Amino acid sequence: MSTSSRGVLDQPVCIIGAGVAGLINAHVLLQDGFTNVTLLTRDASVGGVWARERVYPGLYINNVHGEYRFSCLDMPPPERSGATGGRLTGIAMRDYAEKFYETHLKGKAHFSFQTEVLGIERRRASPAGDPNEPSIWSVRVKVLLSGQVREENFARIILATGGCSNPQVPPYLSEAAASGAGYRGLVFHTSKFSTKLDEVLELVKPRENANGHENERVVVIGGGKSAQDVCAKLANEGRRVTIVFDRTDVFLATPDPIPDFARKSRFLSILHPHRVLKSRLERFLHTTWLGGKIVHAVMDLLSTTSYKAYNIPLDSPFRRAHSLFWSVRLSDDGAVRSDSFYSLVGAGAIDVVAPHRVKGYSTDGSGVTLNDGTTLSAKVVLLATGYQSSWTGIFTKETIEEIGFGKHAPTLPIEDNWQYSSMKDGPKPHPDSRQWTTTIYRGIVPAKNLLHRDFAIAGALFTANPGYTNEVVAHWISSYFQNDRMNIPRTTEKALVEAEKESVWMKIRFPDMLSWVNDSYSASLDFWTWPQAADELLEDMGVLPQRSGGGWFTWPFKIIDTKELSTLGEERRALRFEH
Ligand SMILES: Cc1cc2nc3c(=O)[nH]c(=O)nc-3n(C[C@H](O)[C@H](O)[C@H](O)COP(=O)(O)OP(=O)(O)OC[C@H]3O[C@@H](n4cnc5c(N)ncnc54)[C@H](O)[C@@H]3O)c2cc1C
Repeated sequence: MSTSSRGVLDQPVCIIGAGVAGLINAHVLLQDGFTNVTLLTRDASVGGVWARERVYPGLYINNVHGEYRFSCLDMPPPERSGATGGRLTGIAMRDYAEKFYETHLKGKAHFSFQTEVLGIERRRASPAGDPNEPSIWSVRVKVLLSGQVREENFARIILATGGCSNPQVPPYLSEAAASGAGYRGLVFHTSKFSTKLDEVLELVKPRENANGHENERVVVIGGGKSAQDVCAKLANEGRRVTIVFDRTDVFLATPDPIPDFARKSRFLSILHPHRVLKSRLERFLHTTWLGGKIVHAVMDLLSTTSYKAYNIPLDSPFRRAHSLFWSVRLSDDGAVRSDSFYSLVGAGAIDVVAPHRVKGYSTDGSGVTLNDGTTLSAKVVLLATGYQSSWTGIFTKETIEEIGFGKHAPTLPIEDNWQYSSMKDGPKPHPDSRQWTTTIYRGIVPAKNLLHRDFAIAGALFTANPGYTNEVVAHWISSYFQNDRMNIPRTTEKALVEAEKESVWMKIRFPDMLSWVNDSYSASLDFWTWPQAADELLEDMGVLPQRSGGGWFTWPFKIIDTKELSTLGEERRALRFEH
């Protein structure tokens, strides 16, 4: 081992966040020989979104067994796996994260639980390309139990705070607005659902004991996945629940589980265009007239099958959803279940008020008022109004500017340079997308800071297989920190152009995902095309891409298993010695 890499390995690394992204990054760093790894989390346990304090029985997630697993630890199949096609539950995710921590991290990395990061500032930058002169990152934290505020210094930072860990509530719906209007019930954001559930069940009587009282119900505001999850839970607990939304996420559902060769392979990913089309089949699908028709025919078939699976009527507000092809606002419901949101709606156990918007709290203090003036009275108002970036607010302005983390005016025109036939006649990019851009190379490193190798973001690649992509990203970051030779731009200027091109692509590919492209997720919406995105990262590291293999006809159907990443550390080490 060279002295320079030994130096890096002993320098302190701080990982902010102990969700799945933080955990796998810590493990890969330790496996690579880093000796001083600290994880900070404001939670009391590991798991992030799936931490003990957030999950509840009956919560099903968008993913199936195998998609949220790391190569070094098996995950037992979740409950009712056969009937649900291996649909993962929140509880299964919590158990996996906790087992991962116990098996691979406890006593090896330093964990500070219930420690909130208040601010991050770079006091000194390492000279670009010289890993022996570490940077000094000052991290200001608050110990939540004692209120004590202190500062700690690190040489490198991995930001793994999650794109969805900070609630977003419009001011007119906030708890303050509710008390200002004299609302007599309970109001909270869905992020607190697990901790407040018992209180809600205590407060709102079961349907059969409600004696027709209008206010014996919960009103859920929002139409996305969280809204549907909490509605299903409350309806399954026998409570009356009303969902109000303007527009909902598109969903996928099938009468029976989709077979693994289609669900867990590259099949669905190649039906979606990537920035770079590697295979002949992808080029056929996205650059020829016939290919484009096939792509959209399959998307239409998936939509129709999903609506049919739950007998959704033609005039239902659930058909007024985001597009399956042009958006990543997707809820994967999997095989039809009798206790799922759509089944409960069909059975009349969930009332639907849509398309409607809530204007605010009613002046009589009984509930909320809709845009048509109707009042919905309720004992509980649940705000399923989404999440916002966890990044803003914890960096000083100077640091954001210095590392190039914030949004800035674009230097490239928002033009469709790809001209794919599958993307013909799509929605136009939002006019606001011409005002701002972010330049986060590969969705991991602010391009302006690429040469310093002292800061990276984990968990920001929006993906349908978080296990696989997070593990690949963790290896990428470790190689990057160790100054390994990588196929990445050699100058800041080139990095900025490459990153901005990625951003332009995302703006054209997903025109309605503007806020993510401009703010919290930047150039990393590889939801469907996660295998192609992971391959790009593997190529950056100089190791074998497309590891699931297969022949010229079978490769799109080969199951992608995270186990194929188990030798990645050794492969990277071998390359380091070769160089
Ligand atoms: C309700 C909900 C449902 C979701 N469902 C799915 C799904 O079905 N499938 C899917 O793939 N994805 C889903 N997501 C997205 C999900 O966030 C990611 O897939 C993934 O679990 C995120 O992992 P992560 O480690 O990046 O971040 P998180 O799990 O969000 O972890 C963030 C960590 O950062 C810590 N943190 C944040 N800010 C600070 C701070 N200032 N100081 C200290 N610590 C901080 C948190 O305490 C936590 O430990 C969902 C998100 C939400 C909110």
